Amino acid sequence: MKTIGIIGGMSWESTAHYYAAINRETAARMGGLHSAPILMESVDFAPIAALQNSGDWNKAGDILAASAGRLERAGAEIIVLATNTMHICAPQIEAAITAKFLHIAEPTAKALLDDGATRVGFLGTRFSMEMDFYTDRLREMGLEPLVPDVDRTNLNAIIYEELCRGIVTDASRAIYVRAIEGLAARGAEAVILGCTEIGMLISDDDSPLPVYDTTELHAKAAVAAAIEA
Ligand code: GLU
Repeated sequence: MKTIGIIGGMSWESTAHYYAAINRETAARMGGLHSAPILMESVDFAPIAALQNSGDWNKAGDILAASAGRLERAGAEIIVLATNTMHICAPQIEAAITAKFLHIAEPTAKALLDDGATRVGFLGTRFSMEMDFYTDRLREMGLEPLVPDVDRTNLNAIIYEELCRGIVTDASRAIYVRAIEGLAARGAEAVILGCTEIGMLISDDDSPLPVYDTTELHAKAAVAAAIEA
């Protein structure tokens, strides 16, 4: 099995889920005491979040590309960036390494298309919902993404002020469920949890639409790539 490199810490709450999900999937596929060979670089999220807010994506990309380079030099053969939002910097990261960079939108789109869903809701940070880098990628892969037309400020605040700090509340779950109901009313057949923390709040049990959790799908795809490649 190849070594998986994780660029994590954005936030560490969701990176902890990646670590568990990658190892759980490895044990499920390989059995016994198997666990995944993993290298991780976990960044300090505060300066990255400050760069997001000042729109300095290039500088953030330099930091993440340097991290990817260190993981590659340490032996990582497949690299995952454990956040949807920072995939805005994917081109910079890909340019810095020769190891395979597994883009988070790829396994997500594939799972939806395999299940026959094309008109899909997308929930994430305001950057992922309002800038084009992510939804364009989904469109290129044949999906028709819909982002909420109301409440995006609340949905974004819940990610940074609560989920990234380990806070999960029923009140915030209700706001997310209401957003999913709105997407369903506009014809969405499924919803992408397009932020790696939303799975802490929403599952299939809460959602009026089938959920596609990018954290789980990305983690599983990393294991598949590490075993099958
Ligand atoms: N983890 C989040 C995501 O998947 C948000 C935190 C960040 O901005 O990186 O988009």
